[in-house]
Amino acid sequence: MSLGCDLTLLEELTSNAKQIQEDVLNKILKANANTEYLQRFLQGSSDKELFKKNVPVVSYEDVKHYIYRVSNGEPSDVISGEPITAFLRSSGTSSGNPKIFPANNIFFKNVQIIYTLCSVVMSKHVEGFKEGKVIWFQPASTTPCGLPIAPVLTSFTKSEYYRSLAKKSTSPDQIIMCPDTKQSMYCQLLCGLVQRDDVVSVGAVFASVLVGVIHFLENYWKELASNIRSGHLSEWITDLGCRDYVSILLGDPNPELADLIENVCGQKSWQGIVSRLWPKAKCIDAIITGSMAQYIPALEFYSNNELPLVSLRYASSEAYFGLNLEPLSKPQHVSYTFLPNMSYFEFIDVDGEIVDLVNVKLGHYYEPFGLHRCRVGDVLQVTGFYNMAPQFRFVRRKNTVLSVYAEPTTEEDLLKALARATVILESSDLMITGFTCYADISTVPGHYVFYMELKAKVNNTSIDDLVLDTKVLVECCCVMEESLNGSYRSFRRKNGWIGALEIRVVQQGTFASLMDFFVCRGSSISQYKTPMCLESAEALKVLEDKVLARFFSDKSPPI
Ligand code: AMP
Repeated sequence: MSLGCDLTLLEELTSNAKQIQEDVLNKILKANANTEYLQRFLQGSSDKELFKKNVPVVSYEDVKHYIYRVSNGEPSDVISGEPITAFLRSSGTSSGNPKIFPANNIFFKNVQIIYTLCSVVMSKHVEGFKEGKVIWFQPASTTPCGLPIAPVLTSFTKSEYYRSLAKKSTSPDQIIMCPDTKQSMYCQLLCGLVQRDDVVSVGAVFASVLVGVIHFLENYWKELASNIRSGHLSEWITDLGCRDYVSILLGDPNPELADLIENVCGQKSWQGIVSRLWPKAKCIDAIITGSMAQYIPALEFYSNNELPLVSLRYASSEAYFGLNLEPLSKPQHVSYTFLPNMSYFEFIDVDGEIVDLVNVKLGHYYEPFGLHRCRVGDVLQVTGFYNMAPQFRFVRRKNTVLSVYAEPTTEEDLLKALARATVILESSDLMITGFTCYADISTVPGHYVFYMELKAKVNNTSIDDLVLDTKVLVECCCVMEESLNGSYRSFRRKNGWIGALEIRVVQQGTFASLMDFFVCRGSSISQYKTPMCLESAEALKVLEDKVLARFFSDKSPPI
């Protein structure tokens, strides 16, 4: 199969989905049958039927031990027949603690194909895309073990396959890979601003990252403009890779561009800021499906509704799934076409039946598997077929109820946090009589807000007559953060991708009003349960009108 730069490759792949899947499975079984993990179930056989019969559907917890053994220095063949060349870090399991997955060069070669195809698809749909450059913001990541470790979509940029790809990015590899996120982000912005007239696409992996970058720009535009004005890079950029490249790129002082940036960024409203800073941009490229849909209004605001939001890829650490062949489709119509060469795909349906890629049915819901039949935790719905390759709409992440960055916070996490807060409050003679929460993304970075109705335990004093002890409530915020999952804590700590957790204490009777609100809209009073999390703006208003006091966590939780 050639890495041809036209759509014939896509036709080839999608038309032969069945055969390609068979070949992929054969190859995987031949290469992996003797790994310690599969040996247990297959005794060295690479027979497909035996694989289907004997290899169990597992969760990450079941394979974790094997993966960690390799990451700690044991040979790859504990879990992989091919040499493992990197580890991919995921945003989290259902328990929210980041997972790591092994990757090999076959994986990166496949991602290279996806990148090439994405470019081809974009060129087909977006006029002028081919000729211009793209700004692709990437928060840098660290390398705690011998092999590179990074989220799947970042990890590829660290592989040799990325290096050999013809690139259109405004920032070179040494800036994207600078381990200091702040220096890297500053320089990525500088590169993007200096080359503003060439930029046809402004993007980041997730919409949340892009909104975070705009927030970063809010804090740094004056300094960026001043660097451009003088032609000198700020001294705090000490990373040599960044320094060398940007110093040359800045070149001579450029007061015209500096004036322009100051003028655009100095305006009171940042509505349309992306289109104003990058006037030739034709789209915003970021994942906006799933939990990222909450950022659509922000991105529409920053682009003044003038730029299409393009959600091109669907990938996870378990597998790279596919791409959106209609990049200009509206967010609610985005579907991803699975590419059969990427991996051997299986799914579990609502009845617990395992189904192959080519046997999924239109309209049905499925959860995909990843490495060694490991459940991914996403719910997808089949929306159509491109040739023989199914297309899926991302419905939701299983179990995740709250997410402002990419952390999967579950109901269980929230209950744990609530239990910790309850203990603190009880020691101050307070009890919680009503509780709900929501992800507030009107602030950047977004943060969790917990509404609480409180009551004094002993003398039954209404909250409206109590003087609240700030220390106690701030302490509650802190312990709640401590008990949230590992992904939350790490995003909260690292460069502030999540803001401080907030408790809003509401007046007595607020949760009764909330119930009235829902009952008026058709909820059965006998079955009413306060929702653990709220999304409806109207329901939030019921609470918001009755807020008595606000408290914020005053320190980052330990990781
Ligand atoms: P990670 O395991 O951290 O690599 O993240 C992968 C997860 O991110 C997937 O399992 C999805 O839940 C989510 N994700 C990735 N791509 C998309 C997409 N295009 N739309 C919605 N969610 C996505």
